[in-house]
Amino acid sequence: MKGYEEGGRLRGLRCRHCGLITATWGLACSRCGSLELEEHELALRGKVVAYTILHVPGDEFLNDAPYAYVVVALDGGGQITGWMPTVKQESDLEIGQRVRYSSSYKPGVQFVKETDAGAGG
Ligand SMILES: [Zn+2]
Repeated sequence: MKGYEEGGRLRGLRCRHCGLITATWGLACSRCGSLELEEHELALRGKVVAYTILHVPGDEFLNDAPYAYVVVALDGGGQITGWMPTVKQESDLEIGQRVRYSSSYKPGVQFVKETDAGAGG
């Protein structure tokens, strides 16, 4: 089954017709409607363009709440939604914060701040 995340990589789609890169899997390009989409490996770093703090999470995340649900604009193109377990309140994060993907056993795409401990790769 196809998905965003596999083996520590983020996978998306690239439109052969107009070049749009997207992390949203679909049958047709959201910009030009072309059906000629190919798999494209997405950048693992980007910046936060929107976020909200969730206090009432789904079952899988009960032990992590509160956490941030984020929309990240990836460096190479495409936007992806994910979550940040290290962000507990609004003041912990700001729009434009640099983040990097961090693989996790949890469902979804987990991000951490680029400046968080453990960075370096
Ligand atoms: Zn297109």
